[in-house]
Amino acid sequence: MSAIKLAIVGVGKIVHDQHLPAIAANADFELVASASRHHTVAGLPGYTSIEAMLGAVPEIDAVSLCMPPQYRYQAAQVALAAGKHVFLEKPPGATLSEVADLEALAAARGVTLFTSWHSRYAPAVQPAKAYLAAHAPTAMQVSWKEDVRQWHPNQEWIWQAGGLGVFDPGINALSIVTEILQSRIFLTRATLEFPENRDAPIAAELHFQDAAGMPVHAQFDWRQTGPQSWDIVVQTADGELKLSNGGARLWVHGVEQPLEKEAEYPSLYRRFAELVRAGRAEVDVAPLRHVADAFMLGRRKVVDAFHD
Ligand code: NAP
Repeated sequence: MSAIKLAIVGVGKIVHDQHLPAIAANADFELVASASRHHTVAGLPGYTSIEAMLGAVPEIDAVSLCMPPQYRYQAAQVALAAGKHVFLEKPPGATLSEVADLEALAAARGVTLFTSWHSRYAPAVQPAKAYLAAHAPTAMQVSWKEDVRQWHPNQEWIWQAGGLGVFDPGINALSIVTEILQSRIFLTRATLEFPENRDAPIAAELHFQDAAGMPVHAQFDWRQTGPQSWDIVVQTADGELKLSNGGARLWVHGVEQPLEKEAEYPSLYRRFAELVRAGRAEVDVAPLRHVADAFMLGRRKVVDAFHD
């Protein structure tokens, strides 16, 4: 089977940290070009726009779109209209409606659209899902607290409208929650804390429940110094389940479980190749819908200005 000729669009931190090593290790893909306004990938032809790249390298089969979410729709539309398969970094877009439009466009062109959620491929996620399928949860607490200065330095886009603020990491927690639970949850109340000088929240407290009333309480905070937490704790009638380190570690009834090695982005690219080869799309907006609900239902609280 010939390799899928892939191009990267929006070369930045996540491309260098994760995409390039994952693609290099996957024989299903051959990386052939990149498009980015200011950055290139060493050893690859680079173009300053997706339009220029697709014009110059027509053999491209697929693109991975890795720019900030506010700028992804236009590039996705261009790629899909040109008949290319599209991998969307998380979150898949700035609005639900634009993702719905891309889904329809991909279906009309008969190409793959993949809304990637890397945290769903963390090693604790499938074992946790299997446990909860057998032991119904009675309550869940999510604590996603990190130091924004450490993890998102110089990322202006993340503080702008559509950049999601603390929901940029928080949506990873929601992608795990929506994967491991058998039941659908919905938001009942929320508070979003906006620094007075920013258009995106620095913290959020969210209360969800499912149809049976099972509560899910989530706290996202970017002001955390000292120990960072990316934890999900679930109570069941038979005891407690805990995922920590963003799903890299798992405890059942207080006993740490052996897990596979972390391989989130290699798994995402394996899945993308499967979808392309099978001629299928995978579009799941559940985590983004919960974030949209939080912006719709959440009480807004203005807090101290944030300076880098
Ligand atoms: P980043 O480094 O700040 O941005 C990626 C690249 O996007 C930039 O280098 C820039 O390249 C391009 N870009 C920036 N502003 C743009 C604009 N206005 N229009 C078009 N292109 C623009 O961000 P990142 O950390 O890689 O994150 C990108 C995406 O990956 C986000 O959705 C994020 O949630 C996701 N992600 C990030 C991480 C992480 O650890 N950083 C982890 C998982 C997922 P040019 O200036 O060359 O155009």
